[in-house]
Amino acid sequence: MVPPSAFEQMATLLNQQGSHADIEQLAKQIRKGLNPHPSGQMELNIPEMENHKLAGMQHKYRQTLLFFPSQGQVCHSYCTFCFRWAQFVGDKSLRFSSSEVETLHNYLCLHKELTDLLITGGDPMVMKTHHLAHYLECLTKPELEHIQTLRIGTKALTYWPQRFVTDADADELLRLFEKLVRAGKHVAIMAHCNHWRELEPYMTQRAIQRIRNTGAEIRAQGPLLANINNNHEVWAKMWQQQVKLGIIPYYMFVERDTGAQRYFEVPLAKAWQIYKQAIQEVSGLARTARGPSMSAGPGKVEIQGVTEINGEKVFVLRFIQGRNEEWVQRPFFAKYNPDATWFTDLQPAFAEEKFFFEDEYLQMLAAKNALNLIPN
Ligand SMILES: *Cc1c(COP(=O)(O)O)cnc(C)c1O
Ligand code: SF4
Repeated sequence: MVPPSAFEQMATLLNQQGSHADIEQLAKQIRKGLNPHPSGQMELNIPEMENHKLAGMQHKYRQTLLFFPSQGQVCHSYCTFCFRWAQFVGDKSLRFSSSEVETLHNYLCLHKELTDLLITGGDPMVMKTHHLAHYLECLTKPELEHIQTLRIGTKALTYWPQRFVTDADADELLRLFEKLVRAGKHVAIMAHCNHWRELEPYMTQRAIQRIRNTGAEIRAQGPLLANINNNHEVWAKMWQQQVKLGIIPYYMFVERDTGAQRYFEVPLAKAWQIYKQAIQEVSGLARTARGPSMSAGPGKVEIQGVTEINGEKVFVLRFIQGRNEEWVQRPFFAKYNPDATWFTDLQPAFAEEKFFFEDEYLQMLAAKNALNLIPN
């Protein structure tokens, strides 16, 4: 799955029975070439408080804070297409992680514009309930009334549904959800799901029922992946199954420009075809799935279609989320390119020099000393 040159280098070293240290060194070097931190997440998303950086958090969009609890930085699955792979390679300098509940609480208190806290990883559901409770119980305090929604990103619903059913602290976990719901919070399990097969096991269906009985919602999101789910039947069937089981379809993501992207990427034009056909095959209740969406540097960009304007074939795009919220929902256009697989492959349409947000985005990069992030 890695670039052929990287593969050759490693194969040669192994054949020559290179030392453990040399192999590790080469592995590190190859990883560095795989864009461990896509979309400027290290340079642009880490919030600060009293002039110091808060490791283990990302605050990119106004309303939502991402928190990476240190006990949740492993996963039930090690997907070869993972965009968070840098969390798992044992290199602390690459990892987002925090165990500072005080800092989280203080940051949330200071930022009244926040409405959502998203606990992510890794997989926070590898954590014991008492660890999770340690981070989440502060949410019921009056000073955090502005935090309306708690989201938990997880693969556990389909890869370790026992977490919600038979694990020793499964009941305690459900009581924690109930407590938050009763305190007036919207609790949303953001389930990573990329194939309807994942939803078939009885244990997963029990987990869904038990979670929903607490008053929590389940939303599903997943990437579009070559060799795994790159056809519309899989997505249509998956979304239908989700609605049937009481899950709300949320996002179809484009495979990000990191790790083994070359193996899993799907051209944007094809991605849009798959999305469009799948959406046509399902009822309105399953059309809550947005996409195909690229989590790029400036924001989440959705491919809304391919069309022709004044004789020029173009992609119609919009920001679902933007570093500046004023960019959101404004339609814009890129030259049609059948081979483009990521946002940075796109050029503005109609012979324009730049996209409407580009100057402002450059200013944001300059303010963070991060102009090196511009491609080319
Ligand atoms: C996707 C994402 C969010 C959440 O966006 P929603 O549209 O509210 O689901 C928040 N922060 C980051 C960094 C994201 O990539
Ligand atoms: S489940 Fe999600 S976080 Fe875990 S390895 Fe797969 S893509 Fe990465």
